[in-house]
Amino acid sequence: MVDTPMVAMRGVQKHFGSLHVLQDIELEVGRGEVVVVIGPSGSGKSTLCRTINRLETIDEGVIEVDGDVLPAEGKPLARLRADVGMVFQSFNLFAHKTVLENVTLGPIKVRGQKKAEAEKRAMELLERVGVEAQAHKLPAQLSGGQQQRVAIARSLAMDPKVMLFDEPTSALDPEMIKEVLDTMVDLAKGGMTMVVVTHEMGFARTAADRVLFMSDGRIVEENTPEEFFANPQTDRAKDFLSKIL
Ligand code: ADP
Ligand code: MG
Repeated sequence: MVDTPMVAMRGVQKHFGSLHVLQDIELEVGRGEVVVVIGPSGSGKSTLCRTINRLETIDEGVIEVDGDVLPAEGKPLARLRADVGMVFQSFNLFAHKTVLENVTLGPIKVRGQKKAEAEKRAMELLERVGVEAQAHKLPAQLSGGQQQRVAIARSLAMDPKVMLFDEPTSALDPEMIKEVLDTMVDLAKGGMTMVVVTHEMGFARTAADRVLFMSDGRIVEENTPEEFFANPQTDRAKDFLSKIL
């Protein structure tokens, strides 16, 4: 079973009405692999991520997480979804809970951890992402970069098997982007399996094992970052790179 990919998408199709937003998606993400997904706005990157933890259903195909097929609904889905952490562009922290409460809520409610145990682990994670001094503050008292690092710690507290990031730095002021990317690089080096949608090509070059380029609902290129940036194969990828680099 060592070869079981952490995430597998096979023959995945997804429509929004008449829009065929995911077309013939075939993807395997190995254990500890970091896959960066890039592509123009509207190409389906967010939808791809959202299907992996079933924030969106699919019309056809199969998605597996660590060898288990994502069920349509019910208890097994809640359990599998807890294995998939997700960090969004907007930090989505609970505004009326402290940083520490934000991080302990899931482990207590979903994983059934004792409060003291959850708090100990939460403080370790807050330290790991460098915001332990903010533990007793409310999210609004933190900078955007700090809030996003809390969001990462909150996801990690669930001990996910894979972490999905959907443009995690797009809403941040430039001076805060680096601290969040550094946290993600650390996570990648620590062996976390990651799928990262980002326009931060520096991150892709530093941390990605593989880059996927999406266009119109399809994965049209897939390569190492070195090869992808040096030799994009399709006109669409060349055009995209000429605009962002
Ligand atoms: P990306 O993240 O690459 O910008 P998205 O996955 O967000 O792309 O969106 C892909 C396409 O699907 C876009 O045309 C978008 O307008 C459309 N779309 C996304 N979510 C929905 C939805 N819930 N209902 C209808 N259309 C949607
Ligand atoms: Mg998006």
